Amino acid sequence: MSKKAPPGGEPEAGALFRVESSRAASADPAVARKRRPLTEPPPLDRHGPARVVALCNQKGGVGKTTSAINLGAAMAEVGRRVLLVDFDPQGALSAGLGFQPHQLDRTTYDLLMDRGVAIDDVRLKTQVPGIDLLPSNIDLSAAEIQLVTEVAREQTLARALAPVLPEYDFVLIDCQPSLGLLTVNALTAAHGVIIPLECEYFSLRGVALLIDTIEKVQHRLNPDLKLDGILATMYDGRTLHGREVFSRVLEAFGDTVFDTVISRTVRFPETTVAGEPITSWASSSSGAKAYRDLAREVIARS
Ligand code: ADP
Ligand code: MG
Repeated sequence: MSKKAPPGGEPEAGALFRVESSRAASADPAVARKRRPLTEPPPLDRHGPARVVALCNQKGGVGKTTSAINLGAAMAEVGRRVLLVDFDPQGALSAGLGFQPHQLDRTTYDLLMDRGVAIDDVRLKTQVPGIDLLPSNIDLSAAEIQLVTEVAREQTLARALAPVLPEYDFVLIDCQPSLGLLTVNALTAAHGVIIPLECEYFSLRGVALLIDTIEKVQHRLNPDLKLDGILATMYDGRTLHGREVFSRVLEAFGDTVFDTVISRTVRFPETTVAGEPITSWASSSSGAKAYRDLAREVIARS
């Protein structure tokens, strides 16, 4: 949590990515980095109360939804009960689990806005054992505006989730790419935040603002909120560019960066089409292994 947005706005990408080619060129930092040992998650004989984790980054296309689905699936493989919350009106998480967002009867929107709707009117079982879903579609975009006039508007999601927390070990909230009221609701409901960060030149742009928002929520709404970690995604260690960006992320955030790095592979877009997690679609792929490692790290850090 060391990066603050300077008064004039965000740090300029050029300054964050001052290229140090000679060192970065020499080795793959994702390989050279000393990993902390992974601990095997202990079996559970009972479940809950859930740790709520928001996957958050106001930049789109950085791997939030992919990470929510696949981290959730990897947690379920080790016996954790998981609720995935689609908190993006795009409905990509719901689609990624095989649901057609426009065909949904009741969604997270109804849960937030209609007192007569209970969580069981919205909650769906998925085809992945151990994973339930609160689905969303474009309706949710109206909540951003309608919530503004509600009393305790930032706590609306936390209130809605409270009754089911005893049933789950983890609730993963897939945030939309903005820092608006819905994301503030997710951060208010959460115990932890994971920031997926694409290993691309402009990826650090905006992270200072995101961390600033997290700190504001900590101070004003949710003092227990923790930054669980920064997840490097779409990493390509074969390119100098990828290695340089990852080195820079490590320099900026140190041990906050998860040891597990998600590589760029076409297997992920394939899973979106298939409507299932990579852990079942390509169970022995390196992408499935990476999310299994990440699940071990997240369970150990929680
Ligand atoms: P976000 O939720 O942050 O907008 P997504 O998880 O939807 O990001 O990912 C954006 C796109 O990139 C999707 O098409 C997804 O399939 C693809 N993608 C995600 N992770 C990877 C990866 N590690 N390698 C290659 N493509 C990826
Ligand atoms: Mg998404």
